[in-house]
Amino acid sequence: MTVRLPPCLCPVCESKLDAATATDGDDVLPKSGDITVCFYCAAVLVFTDDLGIDTIDIKSLAPELQSQLSAMITQIQDNPPMTIH
Ligand SMILES: [Zn+2]
Repeated sequence: MTVRLPPCLCPVCESKLDAATATDGDDVLPKSGDITVCFYCAAVLVFTDDLGIDTIDIKSLAPELQSQLSAMITQIQDNPPMTIH
């Protein structure tokens, strides 16, 4: 499920991100500490307290989350979206 968010910029590639897809399928707004992946550069990101985003080291996350994210990253890298700046 994808939810719309206030637009913010990816801290890595500076693409505008205004949606998030919950990996567990729940249509809920992300909260502080939730992990997401940039659709454009596949950077692993974390939502901050004010729902901004910041980078996070994937190795600091739980192993099952790492493998889930790795699958998403591979998918993004194999099927890059149209880049809109
Ligand atoms: Zn990015």
